[in-house]
Amino acid sequence: MNIGFIGLGIMGRPMAKNLLKAGYTLVVYDKFAKFDDLVALGAKGGVSNKDVAAQSDIIITMLPNSPHVKDAVLGQDGVVDGAKAGTILVDMSSIAPGATQEICAALKAKGIVMLDAPVSGGEPKAIEGTLAIMVGGDANAFETVKPILEKMGSSAVRVGDIGAGNVTKLANQIIVALNIAAVSEAFVLATKAGANPESVFNAIKGGLAGSTVMNAKIPMILDGNFKPGFRVELHIKDLQNALDTAHALNVPVPLTANIMETLQALKSDDMGANDHSAIVRYYEKLAKVEVRK
Ligand code: NAD
Repeated sequence: MNIGFIGLGIMGRPMAKNLLKAGYTLVVYDKFAKFDDLVALGAKGGVSNKDVAAQSDIIITMLPNSPHVKDAVLGQDGVVDGAKAGTILVDMSSIAPGATQEICAALKAKGIVMLDAPVSGGEPKAIEGTLAIMVGGDANAFETVKPILEKMGSSAVRVGDIGAGNVTKLANQIIVALNIAAVSEAFVLATKAGANPESVFNAIKGGLAGSTVMNAKIPMILDGNFKPGFRVELHIKDLQNALDTAHALNVPVPLTANIMETLQALKSDDMGANDHSAIVRYYEKLAKVEVRK
């Protein structure tokens, strides 16, 4: 079985490496980034999205947002032009659930099955192969690709029909953004009040306030390290998809709207390419204090 892997950025590259390590035969392609390192590890290099699709039984895409997935799959020299009937496309990008459903419908006409399978965990878990993977789409196709997903993640759970993976990811992104904001506001207060932020972390991380977000982000914040990881701009993209999806369903999401404006403030302050842990810098600016070692 040949697997095609399209989109070799911060996440896709280590995910593809884990599939190679597991012994799968891979054809890889990225429209803008080089991939010689993967070819050196044994992958075959494709020349277009269409070319990858023509050589693959299962195709994985890991791209920034809905327009990129539409371009790679339905655009010029796209997956749809190369894939044969029966191919399974697993889009692991985080995109708008409505866009997922549109792409799936366009592929169905050619007998191509699509699953949406976005991930949570960021670059460290992509490298470790311990991502949390949330899947929407056909149950039989999910069973076929599950062993492959499990080489990239510690869990792969089917949550419903096509689009349900991305709906779950939107929920995940709301929780992560607000969790970083809560941690940031609290640590800025504690630091300004004279407590040692590292000691605050050690004191509370094992209690009810402890979280995966706190464990991942406070060490970065204490070091003043805002290198991505997960860029502020990508989180803006996810929250825009969350706001659009919520409003189309008449679901008010006041906390999401609030944290969206914090991220917009960071972007206008030239921090769009920082890790989303830079949310703390918004609160630091308000209180004129830095949460550092
Ligand atoms: P990235 O920008 O680093 O990588 C995306 C890659 O896609 C780039 O190398 C780009 O050249 C390529 N690309 C864009 N358009 C293309 C096209 N039409 N054809 C072929 N290649 C194309 O992004 P990333 O951080 O790897 O994120 C990918 C997805 O995973 C996003 O949807 C993101 O929201 C999600 N995600 C990221 C993280 C994280 O921590 N970075 C965590 C979880 C989920």
